Amino acid sequence: MKNLRLSKSIIGEREVESVARLMLEDGYLGMGAEVKLFELEIAEFLGVDTSNVICVNTGTSALHLALQSILDYNDEVLVPSLTYLASYQAISAANGIPISCDVYEDSLTINLDDAEKKLTKKTKAIMPVHYAGNPWKLESVYKFAQKHNLRVVEDAAHAFGCKYRGKKIGSFGDIICFSFDGIKNITSGEGGAIVTFDESIIDRLKDGRLLSVERDSENRYLGRRSWDFDVKRQGYRYHMSNIFAAIGRVQLSRLESEFAPKRRTIYDEYCQQLGEIPEIIIPVQDNYSYVIPHIFPVRILNGKRDEVRNQLESLNIPTGIHYKPNHHLSFFKDERLKLETTDRIYLEMITLPMHPEITIQDVRNISLKIKNALK
Ligand SMILES: *Cc1c(COP(=O)(O)O)cnc(C)c1O
Repeated sequence: MKNLRLSKSIIGEREVESVARLMLEDGYLGMGAEVKLFELEIAEFLGVDTSNVICVNTGTSALHLALQSILDYNDEVLVPSLTYLASYQAISAANGIPISCDVYEDSLTINLDDAEKKLTKKTKAIMPVHYAGNPWKLESVYKFAQKHNLRVVEDAAHAFGCKYRGKKIGSFGDIICFSFDGIKNITSGEGGAIVTFDESIIDRLKDGRLLSVERDSENRYLGRRSWDFDVKRQGYRYHMSNIFAAIGRVQLSRLESEFAPKRRTIYDEYCQQLGEIPEIIIPVQDNYSYVIPHIFPVRILNGKRDEVRNQLESLNIPTGIHYKPNHHLSFFKDERLKLETTDRIYLEMITLPMHPEITIQDVRNISLKIKNALK
């Protein structure tokens, strides 16, 4: 099939016009009023106060800033190994230690029984990853955290716009990190946001994105800079650019009317086409969750994954693997570690094309090729 993509930014005239307006009329490209407007609109979308939303330059820096605001040196963070490398690098960048946990076989989200076995005196936080947009058992994660006195940093990179028990991800909880990179549910080119309800870290996060210059955000929103200031801790250049915000604002306005229904229709068609095949397993979702699928991973049983993958690739149907488990990487390796489910399902996983420009016909064609490969 020609020009089929695994994932894709959906950018149109409105985003182009928005950036052109910003560049030609506003002319202020750093962090300024446009970022404040994006934060305001994200806050309105989530139903939270603007002060709870902090835009940054990537999802990874959102995670890093969030973690460095709560971790002490060598604190441990429980995290599923089956996640994007960014989750792990953010923990180690914040001087924390990622403790690799297994996932539930049905949902591919963090297994709380395994997490419980890995608790130590140094455990400070748990980082659930809303895999493919699925906030599976989020309530249990928060109960677990409460029981063991842990902070929760949600890696919600896949889950912007998703809901748990009718409430949007990011409208409740402890610290929630979103990504707006090129292929996420909405994009700002690159970008991310932290949402938190912990008043004690908000200033630290806001300053932290601007080299920890105290109260610099308010000046930037007004197009000013701080010339006389104090700095009390490590900071980073993690603020969002007005250019990113100009793209993100348009994308946000398209999410519920356009992107979400398309992704959900594609998801439903895949389920219809592949759901009955005994050798294919689609990760489950709670019936009380509203998921906007960011990716479409399935498991192919009986050792047939690579054959299916090769056949699809040969037909120009791109596929992916989400993810190579992080405990397999040299930097994060722990030889003692056995993650039974993760290690097994890693060899079964394949991600199929998912983005708003995939058509129903594409899904049917892809599914047919998979069925043929399985014969
Ligand atoms: C995309 C992603 C991130 C990082 O976001 P960036 O904006 O790309 O830095 C973190 N975690 C997960 C699970 C992701 O998919």
